Amino acid sequence: MAAQDFSSKHHAVVLGGGFAGVEAAIGLAKSGRFRVTLVSERDFLHLFPITIWTPTRAIPTSRTRVSLAELGRVNHFEVLVDSVASIETDANSVVLGGQTLSYDYLVIALGAGKPKPPGVEHTRSLCAGPDAAIDIRDQLDRLLRRGEGRIAVGFGGNPKDGSAMRGGPAFEILFNIDHLLRKKGVRDRYELSFFAPMATPGQRMGPKALAKIGPMLGARGIHQQVGSPITGFAADGISFEDGTKLGADLTLFIPGAVGLPVIAASGLPTNEAGFVKIDANTLVEGTVNVYAVGDVAALAGPEWRAKQGHVAEAMAHAAAHNIIKAAQGLNDRIGYAEHVSILCLMDTGSGGVLVYRSTKRQFAINLPIVGHWFKRGWGFYARNSKLRRFPRLPGL
Ligand SMILES: Cc1cc2nc3c(=O)[nH]c(=O)nc-3n(C[C@H](O)[C@H](O)[C@H](O)COP(=O)(O)OP(=O)(O)OC[C@H]3O[C@@H](n4cnc5c(N)ncnc54)[C@H](O)[C@@H]3O)c2cc1C
Repeated sequence: MAAQDFSSKHHAVVLGGGFAGVEAAIGLAKSGRFRVTLVSERDFLHLFPITIWTPTRAIPTSRTRVSLAELGRVNHFEVLVDSVASIETDANSVVLGGQTLSYDYLVIALGAGKPKPPGVEHTRSLCAGPDAAIDIRDQLDRLLRRGEGRIAVGFGGNPKDGSAMRGGPAFEILFNIDHLLRKKGVRDRYELSFFAPMATPGQRMGPKALAKIGPMLGARGIHQQVGSPITGFAADGISFEDGTKLGADLTLFIPGAVGLPVIAASGLPTNEAGFVKIDANTLVEGTVNVYAVGDVAALAGPEWRAKQGHVAEAMAHAAAHNIIKAAQGLNDRIGYAEHVSILCLMDTGSGGVLVYRSTKRQFAINLPIVGHWFKRGWGFYARNSKLRRFPRLPGL
């Protein structure tokens, strides 16, 4: 294809190469109206939902990553691998590690930050990123070589923003470890525990999902320690406010998310938890050309709303649409509210539970065997549709 002339086009800069950033960049570039630059500190899109299989070696890490350079090449946007140091909305510019970029339109899609509860260095979280998934795999290997051990998996929330809680992957990784141990015939040599500070973890997914999770843990002999705040983590386990201690040789903990330091340092408007305040159409409060999408943004919606990949993509789609219309001088805008739902195919290693919750309906359906393969199919689809190897299904 001939090189495109971007010199006369508006410059749209997208910060972040996750689900939200990639979706926004694809949407903007597709319009042909912008020179689009995506900035990401890592050079690949990390397919978080399928990294639940990295620790058990059920998937090679290469399959959980999609090269941003290749995504940019086939979708016609530029990729800059660099770190965002500061966002200067007054000057319409972004300061990176190596240069300063000017923009006409900006999409902030930098994801969420991680809090640091006492002793968190003794824990590992799949949500911390690609290296963490590999580290958890290595720690699990170490315990397998030892031939016995205690593994505790849990999650926490953020009292300042209920949407910043991620429980699904904690259950998935527990079920997948259980499945691996059973396949190896060594389940009886390992103690598996689930812990959470809230009395009814998983409640955000709705009563139907909640009614399934407890029995699923029980049927697998997974001990539950819930309902008391966590006071700290140590090398040998977790302490709780009620004075109990859960012993563990390996603690996997997904803390509730918080806003990123770069957002606070840039003086952007945020909610109490540090997430960027936006209007119903993803425009950042007090700005005219800056949008925030995905986990970085303060999500509006029902009390059970949650930061999820499909919501991040719907927000990005809305932002791209709204920027295109703004650049055309048109008033037509779209929002993301109707896409705020919980959609999770909770994988167990040998099957799955499809959980859905919206304002209109909710269900949780057991999908033995096929559930697992649907989720694998989604990973294949996510990679190949973004690489334009086949068409994207509407809304997915
Ligand atoms: C283990 C796991 C399983 C999940 N499973 C599901 C699921 O089944 N279904 C579902 O819908 N959702 C799921 N989610 C949630 C989903 O993955 C997130 O909601 C989604 O990744 C958010 O996308 P994002 O683009 O907003 O943020 P991210 O994916 O976090 O992307 C942020 C991007 O910004 C970049 N970045 C951050 N800071 C800087 C900086 N200073 N400079 C430059 N670049 C920077 C990062 O490198 C990254 O490229 C899961 C999450 C995890 C962790």
